[in-house]
Amino acid sequence: MIDLTITEALKKLKSGEISAVELTRAYLDRIEQYGKELNCYITVTPERAMADAAASDARYAAGTALPLDGIPIGMKDLFATRGIRTTAASRMLENFVPEYESTVSQKFIDSGTVLLGKTNLDEFAMGTFSKTSYFGAPVNPWQLENRLTAGGSSGGTTSAVASGLAIGGTGTDTGGSIRFPSAITGLVGMKPTYGLCSRWGCVAFASSLDTPGPIGRTVEDTALLLSAMAGHDPKDSTSSNKNFDFDGSLQPILNKSDKPLRIGIIKELMDVKISEDMKKLFESRIADLKSNGAEIVEVSIPNILDALAVYYIIAPAEASSNLARYDGMRYGLRVEGKDIYDTFKKTRAAGFGEEVQRRIIIGTAVLSSESYEVYFMQAARVRRMISESFNHAFTMCDLIVCPSSAGTALPLDSDLTPLEYYALDMFTVAMNLAGIPACSVPCGLAENGLPLGMQVVGKRFDDLKVLQLAKHIEQFAGIDNRPTKVMGK
Ligand code: GLN
Repeated sequence: MIDLTITEALKKLKSGEISAVELTRAYLDRIEQYGKELNCYITVTPERAMADAAASDARYAAGTALPLDGIPIGMKDLFATRGIRTTAASRMLENFVPEYESTVSQKFIDSGTVLLGKTNLDEFAMGTFSKTSYFGAPVNPWQLENRLTAGGSSGGTTSAVASGLAIGGTGTDTGGSIRFPSAITGLVGMKPTYGLCSRWGCVAFASSLDTPGPIGRTVEDTALLLSAMAGHDPKDSTSSNKNFDFDGSLQPILNKSDKPLRIGIIKELMDVKISEDMKKLFESRIADLKSNGAEIVEVSIPNILDALAVYYIIAPAEASSNLARYDGMRYGLRVEGKDIYDTFKKTRAAGFGEEVQRRIIIGTAVLSSESYEVYFMQAARVRRMISESFNHAFTMCDLIVCPSSAGTALPLDSDLTPLEYYALDMFTVAMNLAGIPACSVPCGLAENGLPLGMQVVGKRFDDLKVLQLAKHIEQFAGIDNRPTKVMGK
C-alpha cells in the first residue's frame, strides 16, 4: 500500500477499496520498522494519526470527504502544531509544545490529511545535510547501506517520503531546503512563490526568504499538497491574496500548435562545474523539451554567481534578529545564571548548536554599524539586481530550467567546511532572493544509480505553469521512485 501515490490513494479511498485507517496503519507499521534507522521523524504521533484516519473514514462514509481526506503526511518540525512538540531540531525548543497551530498545518487539517508526525531537519533549517539537527541526521533511503545524506534542511521529510514513511510532506525553503533534498532523494519539491503559503506559526529563519512548500513523489501529488497549503492568511503580513488555482490535474503545455513554449537556460550557470552525470541528464531533458516543440533560448542573469554571497549575508542577518527571541525568558530552554545577562548567555550557549551560533555571529556582524552599509545594504542592492534580471529574462522566455545540484547525494560523514556546505546552494538561492517559484523534479539516475533533479523556474505566481512543465520532465525522465523499490523492501 505504501507504493501508492496521493492521486492513486485518493481514488482508492473514494471508491472504498481501502480505508484511511488501513492506509495509516500501513505507514505507522513502516515507521515502526524503519523509523529509527532512517531517523526521519523527531516525533511520531500514532494516536493522533489513528484518530485523524478514523475521522476521515467517517467523512467518506457520510459523503462529506475533504479534498485530501485520509492522506498520511509528515510535517517538517518547524511548523507549530498545537499540543504536539515542535522543536525546530534545536535543543532550545526540545520540550516546546505550542498552544497554537501554524496556518499551513491548520490548512492540512482542514483538507482532511492524517498527521503521522514531525519530521527531522537542520537546526532552525540552517544547513544542507540535516546534520545540524540536535536529534542527529536523517538518512537517505537510496543505497541505505552507504549512509548518504537525504539533504537539508527538509531532509527528514525527503527521507520519509522516499522510503514510504509518509506519502507526502511539507518543507520550507529559505535557500534551497525543499529543492536540494528532493533532488537527491528522487522526489519532487516545490518552492512556491514567496507569499503563496503563509509563514504564520512556522519557526522563522530568514523572514524575507522563508517559503513553506510541498514535497511529493510525483508532480501531481506535489500540486495537490500545494493546493492544500496555499492561500491568503491575514495573520501573515507578507501573505499574498493570489490563489493557487489547481483543479486536480496538470494540463500539458508542450506541443501546443499555436505558440511554442520558450524555455530559458541561464548563460552564467553553464560555466559552473557540475558532475558529468548532471550535465548529461540535463542535456537529455533539454533535448526532450526541444523535440516536443519547446524553443530553447539563452537568458542572462548577470549577478547570479553573486547570489550565494548575497544570501549568506541576508539570511544570517535576518536569522540573528529572528533568533534574538530565544532568551530563556518566555519559552524554550533556560539555563539559570548569576544574573539576567548570565542567564541569556548560558541559555543561548547551551541551546544553540554550532552552525546556528555561527549564523548569529555572522548576522550580528553584518548588521553592526560599521558593516551595515558595506555588507548588508550592498547585498540588498545586488538582491534587487538579481530579481530584476529574472524579470527581464522572463520577457524572453516563459520558464527557465537549470540543475538542482551539482551532483548526487554525498555520504553523511563527508567532512566539508562551512563554506563548502554553503557552496552546495549554488543553484537554489537566487530563486529565494527573487521570491519566484521553482520546482525540483527528477531528471534521471546517475551512473552510480542515484537520482538527480533539475529545476523549473517561473515568474511570480506562475506556480501552476512551473508544475505543468515539471510534469513533462518527470515523464521524460521516468525514474522509478516507489519506496519498496528504493529501499529494496
Ligand atoms: N542550505 C541553506 C542554508 O543553510 C538553505 C537552508 C534553507 O533553505 N532553509 O541556509
